Amino acid sequence: MLGSLLIPQARQPLQCLFRDLHRCRWGLCRQKNPHRGLQTTWVTSSSDISPVFTRALAFGDKVAIVDRNGEHTYRDLLTQSLRLAQEICRALECSSRDLKEERISFLCPNDASYVVAQWASWMSGGIAVPLYRKHPVQELEYVIQDSQSALVIAAQQFVEKIAPSAEKLGVPLLPLLKSHKDGSTSHPAVEEGPLTACSSWKGRGAMIIYTSGTTGRPKGVLSTHENVQAVTTGLVEKWEWKKEDVILHVLPLHHVHGVVNKLLCPLWVGATCIMFPEFDAQMVWKRLLRSEAPRISVFMAVPTIYAKLIEYYDKNFSQPQVQAFVHAFCQENIRLMVSGSAALPVPVLEKWKSITGHTLLERYGMTEIGMALSNPLHGVRVPGSVGNPLPGVEVRIASETLKNGHRSYTIHAQGDENHTQVTPGLEEQEGELLVKGPSVFREYWNRPRETADAFTPDGWFKTGDTAAYKDGVYWIKGRTSVDIIKNGGFKISALEVERHLLTHPHITDVAVIGPPDMVWGQRVSAVVQLREGQMLSVKELKEWARDIMAPYTIPTELIVVEEIPRNQMGKVNKKELLQRFYPA
Ligand code: AMP
Repeated sequence: MLGSLLIPQARQPLQCLFRDLHRCRWGLCRQKNPHRGLQTTWVTSSSDISPVFTRALAFGDKVAIVDRNGEHTYRDLLTQSLRLAQEICRALECSSRDLKEERISFLCPNDASYVVAQWASWMSGGIAVPLYRKHPVQELEYVIQDSQSALVIAAQQFVEKIAPSAEKLGVPLLPLLKSHKDGSTSHPAVEEGPLTACSSWKGRGAMIIYTSGTTGRPKGVLSTHENVQAVTTGLVEKWEWKKEDVILHVLPLHHVHGVVNKLLCPLWVGATCIMFPEFDAQMVWKRLLRSEAPRISVFMAVPTIYAKLIEYYDKNFSQPQVQAFVHAFCQENIRLMVSGSAALPVPVLEKWKSITGHTLLERYGMTEIGMALSNPLHGVRVPGSVGNPLPGVEVRIASETLKNGHRSYTIHAQGDENHTQVTPGLEEQEGELLVKGPSVFREYWNRPRETADAFTPDGWFKTGDTAAYKDGVYWIKGRTSVDIIKNGGFKISALEVERHLLTHPHITDVAVIGPPDMVWGQRVSAVVQLREGQMLSVKELKEWARDIMAPYTIPTELIVVEEIPRNQMGKVNKKELLQRFYPA
């Protein structure tokens, strides 16, 4: 049960609750089960696109989530989501029971309440907008406002933080209340009666995830249910997800890696997801090496997490017999370990292999496209490469040329899951990676111009990543823009950091750069020019920034210069700055 949530048990049988939902979209088969009374399974309708919760009933009493509050079965999640969906509709006075893509922001910890909020948003026909608890209030308000959310849902522990913002923005707040000690709750019972789902999920918006770009404020990436399903099923197929799998979840849930790869994939197949509130190296090692059921079989993380786990291992597991145990245990029990969201340094891959015997499976993806390229589950994983396209994904490596004022693309290589064709004479040539397919997002929310600019005239999404095709696999060679920094798997806009720093009373000019780092991928370094007579330390800067900037965006290095070098156009050459201050 959701220990910390108010949402109680359904007071009537689930098949009754879903009666109207099924009329809209699904066939619901019922048959007597000698062991458990009524057994209910979903049969998808003509369109094959349907959100993950439509599959949950088939997994019934199987444990879906394990968190600080205990175990939650698929049935629990479904009941609680349905109740919340009804509350959402009541709160928004939506008599049709279909919010028709109204946005619902929610601030939940990494536990079952997140899943309930997400599913309830979808059940009520809304778009899920996950907020990140570590973001400062300003950032949360930006997301709520920019997404034009109709409602904010907040878990108890975040109500105090978000309530003043919701009030200020005039957005109703729906708290997830705590259950009473005797097990009862003050929430209304699940209503019998129609729960109007949408008539088609295919083009319908599922979630908006905010991402940083090279221009302006973070943009809301709107993915449809079709997009989300394409990524989920592609990974389920390629990485052979099965219901016996148990994954340990330690990533933030406002990012596609944490939401789709680590949460929706296991829930899609009826597997179990063990959710930690956040990453902690000691806790992760302890859980990975626990032999009692449910035993971890799958782990996924960003390269920084692997680097942190290695650091912990080096400090704490020095005895040869402990090392032998770790190696043998991981070999015997874990079937898959994945790295992604940033380049995996080959030394980290090698060290991880020596510790656990696992060659990390590196994959490449992006908020706008979900997952695009992956090393194989079986077969050779080439260190430093990101493998080949996932099912349904088409990729191109191309370079843009401008001739007589007309832009055109020269294609170096083009491929899909089965085959890549290379243009003779352009073998191994670097170019921008372009992506097409059902996983590619619908739009940047409310930004038609940015959406149009993100695609080539013939509909390929421009990733902004430089790639090459060599030795039968794809390689990511870096970003085409120096203004995107990847720190610990988080995508950071250097310009966004500069925008914040320029509001500091002592700073008159700034250029933010991302020197490479073995653990973090890149660090955030600020080259600043200060007002005359002023001084500023990194510590002071960090304290000042704490309430206005996301923690991972705050510079950890500060270089004070007399003047930031700019060309006649006022531009800073950041590549030169990097070379000057970080020559190695
Ligand atoms: P995000 O949208 O936050 O997931 O960031 C996507 C970006 O992360 C991509 O455009 C790449 O620059 C980077 N990225 C993701 N996976 C990899 C990888 N395996 N190797 C190198 N860069 C990666």
